[in-house]
Amino acid sequence: MTNQLVSFVKELYQTNDFIPLHAPTFSGNEQQYVSETISSTFVSSVGKFVDDFERHIEDFTGTSKAVATVNGTAALHASLYMSGVKSNDIVITQSLTFVATCNALHHMGAVPAFVDVSPVSLGLCPKALTDFLEQNAILTDSGAIHKTTKQRIKAVVPMHTFGHPVELEELLLVCSEWEIALIEDAAESLGSFYKGKHTGTFGDFGAISFNGNKIITTGGGGMVLCKTIESGKRTKHITTTAKVPHAYEFFHDEAGFNYRMPNLNAALGCAQMENLNNFIDNKRQLANLYLDFFKNTDFRFVTEPSYAKSNYWLNAIICPNYDEREKLLKLTNANGVMTRPVWQLMHRLPMYQNAMRGDLAYSEFIEAHLVNIPSSPVEGLGK
Ligand SMILES: *Cc1c(COP(=O)(O)O)cnc(C)c1O
Repeated sequence: MTNQLVSFVKELYQTNDFIPLHAPTFSGNEQQYVSETISSTFVSSVGKFVDDFERHIEDFTGTSKAVATVNGTAALHASLYMSGVKSNDIVITQSLTFVATCNALHHMGAVPAFVDVSPVSLGLCPKALTDFLEQNAILTDSGAIHKTTKQRIKAVVPMHTFGHPVELEELLLVCSEWEIALIEDAAESLGSFYKGKHTGTFGDFGAISFNGNKIITTGGGGMVLCKTIESGKRTKHITTTAKVPHAYEFFHDEAGFNYRMPNLNAALGCAQMENLNNFIDNKRQLANLYLDFFKNTDFRFVTEPSYAKSNYWLNAIICPNYDEREKLLKLTNANGVMTRPVWQLMHRLPMYQNAMRGDLAYSEFIEAHLVNIPSSPVEGLGK
């Protein structure tokens, strides 16, 4: 099977060169818009492309207010700050995620608690969340607290793994019952919809990433999707040094962050947005080709949940066992086709190994069996 996969991928991408997991596509106005910022000298945090990019994201996602940031981790950090997460609070998230999800809450002084992911979405499981809360939490007048440590349980951060939307309605229900804020790590899910509504717009805040490997890129960049205009305005304020607008006076009314996205990067983002729908169509067709390829094999291609439309950002397969996984990783990478195991679980990393956690059986199964396969848009597909 592995040899056939190597041939299949090389045929798809029409090359014998190394095939990465995800490379950006610049086929539109990228050069032109970036050059414009250089000609105008407005390459830094002032310039029209930042505003334009925020409008593009608002129109596409339907969010009340989008605030551009310097990367996705900063967008998550700002979301947690805005949600009132404080030092020593507990933030519940998944162990199966990229490290940025945990680092952002760690840098707020909070601690993570890990619950399992769902076989339906590969994202935070509503049932696992309920079980964890029923076993460990009580609801008081000032919100949910941990039964024994008395720490506040302030937020839940589900992550839309590889672009596949989590079970949002169920999670929202649990969060409202327990009076806990919901913040979506939508870093991987620009272009993914839950029952027709864009991911990142369900929680109080949602964080998107435009890192070089994401569905669109600004080189480095991120965006906070804010549920209300009011919270959007405040997010903009605290991510731009909390400077009170004035023609020449410098007055800052609180300790803000410098999380501003440079105009240079936003220019790239504006050009990329013009092709986002093409990328999504292209990647969904690629996913269908993979689905077909893996039919009648022992490998299961990961598909979107029935309630969702996924951007299929990063394609994934579940190997029949650990040995097959190792064989596949070795052979594909030795033959110029990049494949990669999923991230090592967060509770195995030295800084999060003592974190509270529920049963993580499915996360551990995925860690041992899942492999990501090349997912860049394929030229000629999706037109
Ligand atoms: C990419 C990513 C981020 C943020 O990444 P940045 O590199 O800071 O833009 C956060 N969470 C997840 C799950 C990601 O995949």
